[in-house]
Amino acid sequence: MVHCERDGVVPVPEDQLPVLLPEKIAITQQGGSPLARMPEFVDVTCPKCGGPAKRETDTMDTFVDSSWYFYRYPDARNATAPFDSAIAKYWFPIDQYIAALSTPSCTSSTRAFGRASCATSALL
Ligand SMILES: [Zn+2]
Repeated sequence: MVHCERDGVVPVPEDQLPVLLPEKIAITQQGGSPLARMPEFVDVTCPKCGGPAKRETDTMDTFVDSSWYFYRYPDARNATAPFDSAIAKYWFPIDQYIAALSTPSCTSSTRAFGRASCATSALL
């Protein structure tokens, strides 16, 4: 997504996807996304009006993270990958997930993530 003062939030055109992240990112522990401190990534042209715009830098919503971390539980000692797909396939999908008050929304994003992973063979 691109933020334009004139047009608001504008999606990146499909022919410009995927947006590749820069390879040399300074992780400074200053808080916030390190991408936000990279004008070469942030400052773009609005796909709609051609004016100046800012690229979205919050690339991973927290529900994305909470939608897959538990795949590591059955393969917690794996030092080369987040988890082994064969092990994850054996233990998942899960029937019930109990975590916090936000569990109902986590569960739906978890199921969506699992289904998308299976459909695309991205992780599982
Ligand atoms: Zn615009």
